[in-house]
Amino acid sequence: MQADCIFCDIVLGKRSAEVIKQTGGLVVFKDIKPKAPIHLLIIPKKHVKSIIELVGEDRELVSDMVYMAKDMAEEQGLQGYRLSINVGREGGQVVDHLHLHLLGGWNTSQPDL
Ligand code: 5GP
Ligand code: ZN
Repeated sequence: MQADCIFCDIVLGKRSAEVIKQTGGLVVFKDIKPKAPIHLLIIPKKHVKSIIELVGEDRELVSDMVYMAKDMAEEQGLQGYRLSINVGREGGQVVDHLHLHLLGGWNTSQPDL
């Protein structure tokens, strides 16, 4: 865990969030400012700053995040969706705790993001 990390605080229950699912290694919760009708964040409980800081032992963690996104999308009844990971400030990352965005629920076939 990392001090001054809002997502670590959510993992620890020190910051409130609409948590949808928890496993041994992951937490899934609703984004506070949704950019799509369904906007979930899938995060590892382990504090990893970004994709840049990944190490070999995180391979399974990242795989688990993608499979969790697939399962959550199925649970939410999404036929299609967008998965994204912002990396570093230049990549639009604001929160320095690795997270996978799951966005969907648009009525049109071309999401306007
Ligand atoms: P980033 O730009 O770092 O990839 O995305 C960070 C996301 O976290 C943003 O979509 C933002 O709305 C969301 N977010 C920031 N702070 C909080 C919070 O305290 N709670 C929740 N649920 N989402 C947050
Ligand atoms: Zn953290």
